[in-house]
Parts: sequence; C-alpha cells; structure tokens
Amino acid sequence: MTLSVKRQVALQSHHTLGCPASTEYWVEVRSLSELTKAVQYAKSHQLTLLPLGGGSNVVFTQHFEGLIVKIAIQGKQIVAQQNGQVIVEAGAGESWHQFVCWALQQGLSGLENLSLIPGTVGAAPIQNIGAYGVELKDVMESLWAFNQETEEIKQFSVDECQFGYRESIFKQPDSPWIIAKVAFRLNTEFQPKLHYYPLSQLLADKPVTPELVSDTVCYIRSSKLPDPSVLGNAGSFFKNPVISQAQLKAILQSYPEVPHYPAANDQVKLAAGWLIERCNFKGQYLGEVGVHDKQALVIVNKGMGTGSEVMALASQIAEKVSEQFGIELEVEPRVY
Ligand SMILES: Cc1cc2nc3c(=O)[nH]c(=O)nc-3n(C[C@H](O)[C@H](O)[C@H](O)COP(=O)(O)OP(=O)(O)OC[C@H]3O[C@@H](n4cnc5c(N)ncnc54)[C@H](O)[C@@H]3O)c2cc1C
Repeated sequence: MTLSVKRQVALQSHHTLGCPASTEYWVEVRSLSELTKAVQYAKSHQLTLLPLGGGSNVVFTQHFEGLIVKIAIQGKQIVAQQNGQVIVEAGAGESWHQFVCWALQQGLSGLENLSLIPGTVGAAPIQNIGAYGVELKDVMESLWAFNQETEEIKQFSVDECQFGYRESIFKQPDSPWIIAKVAFRLNTEFQPKLHYYPLSQLLADKPVTPELVSDTVCYIRSSKLPDPSVLGNAGSFFKNPVISQAQLKAILQSYPEVPHYPAANDQVKLAAGWLIERCNFKGQYLGEVGVHDKQALVIVNKGMGTGSEVMALASQIAEKVSEQFGIELEVEPRVY
C-alpha cells in the first residue's frame, strides 16, 4: 500500500497545548512496514522526521519544515505467563490510558498508578513517564524500536534504555529510534504501591483493589490538573529540580518550609511547582498563555496562544526562579 502523505497540515488539534502551528508534511503509520516506508520517504525527500504520538509532551513554536509521522501502530496482547507475572505487548500507537484500563480488565495490575496520563504507549518510555510513586521502568519488560538510519529493528532491555527521572536515551535530540512496540511485566497478584501521600491518605482503611487505585489516581489527577480538551496544556512544564545537599542547606536558610524529597546519589528533589508559586506566577497570564491557578507547574493556553508565547512565559518563570532560588529549571516537554 502506498503512503498517504499530506502537505501543509495544521497541528493545533494534534497536540494538547493546542498552539497554532503547522507541518509541511504529515503521514499516519499503522504498521512497521508503513513506518519503514515513511522513513524512506523522509530520506528520499531529505526531510527531518519527527515521530508524534498524542502530542501531550510537545511545544510547537514554528512551522515544522519536515515530515511528522503520527505513530498509530495498534494491538495489545498477553504473550507469556511466568510465576504470577504476565508479559503483555502493546503497539506504540495505543492510547496509554486505554491500555491501562485494558490491563485492569484482564485482571493484571502494575499500571494503575499511571492511570490517566495522556499520550501513547510508544511515547511512554521516551521520558520514562511517572506518577504516584511508579515509573514506566518499574513495569516495562523490553521494547522494540526502529532505527531511522540503519532501518533495523532492535529490542531494548530496560537497562539499555538508560532510564532516569523523565529521561531515556530516546529523549536525546539526535536519537534515531522510533519505538514501535513495548512489552510490560504485569502481576496477577496485586502488590499495591500506595506510599505517595494523597493515595495513602485517600485509601487508608479501605479494601484496596487495582481498580480502586486507578479510580483514585484519576480522581486526584482530575481535581488538580487541567483537562487538555478544555484548557490547552502539556502537563508539568518543568522537571522537578534535583539538587545537592549543600544547595538545599543554603535554600533552607531563607526558606525553611521548602518541600524536599530524597533523590538518588544522596541528592534532593524539590517541587518545581512550589518554587514557581513562591515567585508569584500561579494564576498569572501573559496574553493567551498563563500559569494554571491550581497547579503552578502547568502552563496553559486559553486557545490562541502561540508556542513562542508559551516559551517566553517559561523563560520568564525560569529566570525568576533562578534569581530567587539560584536553581535552574529544565523544560520537560520537547520543543520544536
Ligand atoms: C494533562 C497532562 C498530564 C500529564 N501527566 C504526566 C505525568 O503524570 N507523568 C508524566 O511522566 N508525564 C505526564 N504528562 C506528559 C505526557 O503525557 C507524557 O510524556 C506522554 O508519555 C507523552 O505521550 P505522547 O504520545 O503524547 O507523546 P508526544 O507528545 O506525541 O511526543 C513526545 C516526544 O516523544 C517523541 N515520540 C512520540 N512517540 C514516539 C515513538 N513511538 N518513538 C519515538 N519517539 C516518539 C516525540 O517525537 C516527542 O519528542 C502529562 C501531560 C498532560 C497534557
């Protein structure tokens, strides 16, 4: 089958921030063979190729001159069962939340804390999605990715993905890899992970099931995060900064109330939302774009805000946080 490559496609409805932008070339791929053809098309036309899932972690600041490849590879199935654990595979284009719900319907747990994260299965490893005490790396078994340069497919183990906090080798700007399929190791026997405070509080003294955890996560998320279909946003706009004990000590002298959490290598994680709130950005708007009034970590777009306006506001926030706390914030979504 030949590819249906479109020209001059508007991107507003293809990413959750909803900024007006467009791409010169656009194609949707539903199989590995279509993905291969799309990669070959980009090469033969000397186009930069950008894989896109649900568009919930991107900012488009300008017209994209290359080929956007919408990853729509579907399919999910149980492939093996070993010692109370089940290996499940899902195509990269599957909706993440629908996949979580499907796993629960199969009686499989492990994904419930990651309920309601927007986007696709294939993008989940890119920044090692995480929420409520669980990260993708905790439940992933392996993944298959297509190399744009060599046109080979490689199976990656968890270690090979080099996962970190909102990081993986796939998030590097020069990564040639396009994720096609992901395998997960899920449980038939429920092992609840409830150490994240709002969960432990809301579920205290209740008979906990995976479905109840999922419902509770959905409830907490809906109460504090804006629904992108109502108010454009890309979720957390900045990573939570990880700093040294010495830096923390200095900050505590001026701000003894700063919330901080232990991180790897004897470091400390701060809540970026708290820092932004203390710089008085919460609920503040710069034209069409602003900082969400319930969660200062989320930059929102009332409708017609451009990606450049979003990034201008992000720069203002980062500068002020740097000035006030001496901490450099890092933008979480990928900017194009
Ligand atoms: C309201 C809201 C809440 C959110 N909450 C969370 C949260 O709790 N935790 C969290 O970690 N994230 C969260 N996010 C961020 C986002 O949902 C995740 O990062 C998600 O995994 C992005 O998926 P996507 O399909 O939308 O990716 P996209 O935005 O389409 O793409 C993101 C990046 O991945 C690349 N990419 C996409 N698919 C592939 C592929 N198959 N192969 C190679 N590269 C690919 C793209 O080129 C781009 O660079 C939230 C976002 C929103 C809007």
